[in-house]
Amino acid sequence: MRKRIAILGSTGSIGTQALDIIKTHKDKFEVVALSAHKNIALLKEQMGDFKPEQVTITDTKCYNTFLKDNKYNITLNHGLDGLKEMISSIDIDIVLIAIVGVAALEIAHYILDQGIDIALANKECIVAGGELLISKAKDKGARIIPVDSEHSAIFQCLQGCEDDSDIKNIYLTASGGPFKDMDIDNLHNVTPAQALRHPNWDMGNKITIDSATLMNKGLEVIEAKWLFNLDIDRVKVVVHPQSIVHSMVEFIDNSIIANMGVPDMRLPILYAFTYPRRLDTDIELNLYEMGNLTFERPDMVKFPCLSLAYEAMRIGGSMPIALNAGNEIAVYKFLEGDIGFTTIPKMVEKAMNIHLRDLIHDPTLEQVLYIDKSIREQLV
Ligand code: MN
Repeated sequence: MRKRIAILGSTGSIGTQALDIIKTHKDKFEVVALSAHKNIALLKEQMGDFKPEQVTITDTKCYNTFLKDNKYNITLNHGLDGLKEMISSIDIDIVLIAIVGVAALEIAHYILDQGIDIALANKECIVAGGELLISKAKDKGARIIPVDSEHSAIFQCLQGCEDDSDIKNIYLTASGGPFKDMDIDNLHNVTPAQALRHPNWDMGNKITIDSATLMNKGLEVIEAKWLFNLDIDRVKVVVHPQSIVHSMVEFIDNSIIANMGVPDMRLPILYAFTYPRRLDTDIELNLYEMGNLTFERPDMVKFPCLSLAYEAMRIGGSMPIALNAGNEIAVYKFLEGDIGFTTIPKMVEKAMNIHLRDLIHDPTLEQVLYIDKSIREQLV
């Protein structure tokens, strides 16, 4: 029987790479549902290629446009309610969440509540609502399988580990981004075009900017803390510019297991779909031509976003929501040309300071969404 897969955010970077790898294994997978925000042209193409049972368009204007010439004989849903309707009305084995930003939280929570497994490519939702999602998955017996390459690596390194107490530290690798070797005094002049040029990975705009500020690694530290149930100070970051080692687990005997491969998101996406088994690919790492692998400490002075993430998680409670909201706003402002590169961490810090007086422990889903919204309003 083919695995029945739903892809939320099918027209984005992860969504298109997922469909690309699925295409090479059509005997194993069936795409039963797709969702897109605005890219209707590409969605139509995907509908033609994969024949899903239902699709959802989240943007209202685009949904209305699509309705006018819906010559496809399939159920078309609209918005967040439409996503929920789609998820609950068809038989689905696993949902790939490839939507950008904290907007994915509510639907992730809903999917787990239905007892359906998630392949999680969105880190913002687990940063803002980690406790909620982890406990919901536990309650309902649903799995959250990481797609983020570092977390997929850790997840793979931990296969066969029988007890969490055997883990000493985990090491998330970071490429260091395009400004790793730039003088700190020149960082304020950096343009969006320069920041969008990532050395190794092909990714969406939001995450590429996050990689340049190292906020991506900060969010990933928090994501790892939740996914692997570790104390934040046991989640370490090591800069590894070649992006061949995708992350490592250090055990209490000081032995380290690493996951290696070509930096290509199709590998962690495929593993999330096939876990605990594997399938063949042509994405091959040639060890003979690889050259040197290097590792170094991250520069938290030059890239304050990383230390802000550790700080937000140490404060705990609702603070990571403020960290994430502040960052999402700052990144979009930077991309629009409204603020400079070095103002991004300053805005994040401002968001955290604003939130300090309203800090709460164990926020509910409604409280997470409310805090996220109110911080955005205060920053604009
Ligand atoms: Mn990653």
